[in-house]
Order: sequence, then C-alpha cells, then structure tokens
Amino acid sequence: MSAEAIHDAKSYSGVSGMQHEEPLLFEHAHEQATSINLPGVHGEIPAELSPFMRASAAGIPGLSEGEAVRHFVRLSQWNHSIETGFYPLGSCTMKYNPRVNEQAVRLPGLAHLHPDQPEDTVQGALQLLYELQEWLGEISGLPHVTLQPAAGAHGELVGIMMIRAWHDMRGDIKRRTVLVPDSAHGTNPASAALAGMNTVELKSGDNGRIDLDVLKAHLNDEVAALMLTNPNTTGMFESDIAEICRLVHDAGGLVYGDGANLNALVGVARPGDMGIDCLHINVHKTFSTPHGGGGPGAGPVAVNDKLAAFLPLPCLEKDGDSIRIIHHNDHSIGNVFGSIGQTGVLLRAAAYIAAFGRQHLHRIAEDAVLNANYMLARLKDAYHVPFPGLCKHECLLTDEWQERHGVKTLDIAKRLIDLGFHPMTVYFPLIVHGAMLIEPTESESRATIDRFCNAMLEIAKACAAGDTELLHQAPLMPIRRRLDETLAARKPVLVWPG
Ligand SMILES: *Cc1c(COP(=O)(O)O)cnc(C)c1O
Repeated sequence: MSAEAIHDAKSYSGVSGMQHEEPLLFEHAHEQATSINLPGVHGEIPAELSPFMRASAAGIPGLSEGEAVRHFVRLSQWNHSIETGFYPLGSCTMKYNPRVNEQAVRLPGLAHLHPDQPEDTVQGALQLLYELQEWLGEISGLPHVTLQPAAGAHGELVGIMMIRAWHDMRGDIKRRTVLVPDSAHGTNPASAALAGMNTVELKSGDNGRIDLDVLKAHLNDEVAALMLTNPNTTGMFESDIAEICRLVHDAGGLVYGDGANLNALVGVARPGDMGIDCLHINVHKTFSTPHGGGGPGAGPVAVNDKLAAFLPLPCLEKDGDSIRIIHHNDHSIGNVFGSIGQTGVLLRAAAYIAAFGRQHLHRIAEDAVLNANYMLARLKDAYHVPFPGLCKHECLLTDEWQERHGVKTLDIAKRLIDLGFHPMTVYFPLIVHGAMLIEPTESESRATIDRFCNAMLEIAKACAAGDTELLHQAPLMPIRRRLDETLAARKPVLVWPG
C-alpha cells in the first residue's frame, strides 16, 4: 500500500495497523494442544468401556486457552460497531446506545426473569412494559399498542394481518391488494405477501414522493391498504400525507405506516394525527439498542380504535394497581411471539425515552434533522442531490457526477473504509441510480460529522482531478478487501469440510 494511502487514513480517523489476519480455528489448531490438563489413563481400559472407544480423533481443534480467546476477540474486532466509530447507514438509524440502558436491562430483577413466571411475581417488569406501551401510543398518536413483534418486518406482517382482519370482519373480503410505493423498503411488499395479500407497486413522482394521480388511479374496492414510509426512504417528508390518507380512506382502505423513520418525527409530529391507522415502530432504531445483522430488535405496532380489537395476544391490561396478562380476546389475530415481546430491547427503548422525558423528546428529531441537513449542506456541491430541498433525518446523494470519471457509489463506499468510516447505505432506495443514503442521527457530534464530510469531499476532489486509482483499488487497509458479495450471499460456505 502506498505511503500516501496510509497517511490519508490516519488523517481522517486515526486508523492504523494491528488488525490481525485470523485463520479458522481448525486451520491453526495443532493436535497436541489443549487448554485443560487431564491425568493420563493408567493401566488397562475396562472391557465394558471398549465399545465406546473412539476409532479416530474427535476433530475438535487443539488450542490453548490463550489461542482460543485471541481467535474470538480478533474476529470481534473485524466487526464494526457504533462504539467503534461513526456508522452512517441511512434507513438503519445506527445511534449510540447509552450505557445507562445497559445498566437498566442488567438489573437482576429484569435480567433474570422467565417469560412464563406467574404475573404476580413480575409486576415491576410488567409495569415498565405497560408504561412503554402507553408512551409509544402517545408518541405515535395511535393509542393501542402491542409490544410483541420481534422486528420492524414482523410488525409489518402483524399490522397487515390486523388490517386484513378488519376488512374481513366488515364482510369486505375482496380487499386483498396492498399498494406499496417503489421507494419502499423491501420488507414492505414481502410482509404484505406473507399476510396473503397481492402487492401493487406505485411509481413515485419526480420529486421522490407519492404522486397523487398515480395513487388515485390505483384506488379501488380491492385495495386493503396503502403501506407508506414517512419521511420516505429518500429522506423527504410526504407533504401530501393528509390528502393521501383521506383518498385511501374514502376508497375504503386503511393506511399502514412504516415507522422506521420515526427518528425524524419523534416528539414533533405524530403519524396518527396525519391519518395513519397502523404503524410499526423499530424501537431498536429510534430508541437506541445496538442492532445489525438481523438482530436484536423489536417492532411494536400501534393502532387506532378501528384496529384495537385485532391486536395480538397476550397483551397487557391495567387492573387497579396491577398489570394483567390477557390471553383471550374474540377478534385478536392471535399469538405472534412467545411472550410479551423482546423484553431486553423494549426496556432499552423505555430507558432511552425516559432519559429525554416528555419535555425533551423532540430534541431527538430536531438534532437528527439538523445533523442531516448540515451534512447535506456540506456535501451538496460535491455530490449530485436527486431531490433538492431540505431533507429530514437522512440525506440522499448519488454518484452521477463521479460516474463521469468512472467512479461509482461502490468505489466511494470502499474508499471510506480506508479512511476509517463505515460506508453509508448504498444503492438504496432502488428508485435512485447510484444512491448513497447517509444518516448521522442525533447522537453524533459536529466534529465527527465534519470528519466524515471532509473524507467525502476529499474523495470527490480526487475524483474530479482524475485521481481515481485509489478509489478503484479501495479498500486497501482491511484484511479482506473487495469480496464477491453476490457469491457470498448465493453460495455461502458454512461448514468446515475437514
Ligand atoms: C429497517 C427498516 C425496516 C425493517 O425493520 P427491521 O426491524 O429491520 O425488520 C422496514 N422499513 C424501513 C424503511 C427500514 O428502514
């Protein structure tokens, strides 16, 4: 690697060496090593044990304790985390998870509970969860809440099942179509399909928002719901939201809100007030919790009066001073999770909300939106902005200007790794060619955002000067460089052949 490349990395984030190549345990094992000492076998092996003697070695890697520990710690260091550095993944809302959250969930009275404990012995935990339910109801403007779904996508499935049940109860059983904008997260159409619905894609308007004429043309007596994200995945607020909800309701449908972007609204505006009937909340995004790679998470769903009767079971109900776990309800869609919900994730969310309190919750959204717009302002002359104007909590750029020099979004993302930054979300939303979706969240300082912007500007400058070799070779610093990600996803090698 060139001295110049090493210098660049150090100047942006202080990245340096000491990352270790790490073979598989089996590859660096040696037969004689072990981390325990057993006494040798003395004398003859008793005859009754001989049928149980191994014919060949167990195939367990021989390692000392030190070697085994280093193996796993080194692998852990290959993982990026929000506690290692800036993590600007758009749509994923990777925010700092305060240590006090971890202290709260590790309190013995919460950490050592069993999901099947009698409710009288877990009143404190139930009280907290019930309170969280109330808070989420108030934050969303949709007062009835289930904490059960284990992720945002699971919440989508639960929400669409409730919407389907609502139409069915009214005898409106031909409503099996769910309209999904082409900017939606892939889980939206997948969840609708899993709930037995047909999905129809709505083409976004030139401004990246829902085109009212396109919406009107698709509304008919088979439409069960519109699924929409607001702000949408381009980081823009659907400013026609009230009209959109009115049109869908007039046509007999309901509006499902994907609440993954609640970070832009929390404490400032409420989806329920906009006309949305049902919303999942990715508490692991909006209300902290380290997440990624598919977990851990929770996707509580909040609904208005229309859908309250269909909420899954068991649910929590207040009975005087106690909280009761309710297992029966005539219209419920049933059980969608093993217990009340992902308690650890839910309690972290409760701790995050409580830390801000009713008075200051709005600062989450305000700081998140301010940070994203600051970033947009710094980068908009260096990168093409597909939808001009203020953004909400994340900003969207493209590689249009860099592509002229043969540099693509992927090259920019890979170069960021050398400069010590986890790349932004790339190639999503799908409706924007060469998309780069960047979300700083409220928890990053101006200094961090500036360092990231400086790195982005440096990349754009190198590109404009035709100095693109490093960009094509990047990343130079990591142990693994450009992987064949398609092959890895399609043909993962998960078993050691030895
Ligand atoms: C993250 C996300 C989802 C899915 O949420 P999970 O909790 O990952 O299942 C859905 N929609 C949008 C817009 C998202 O960003």
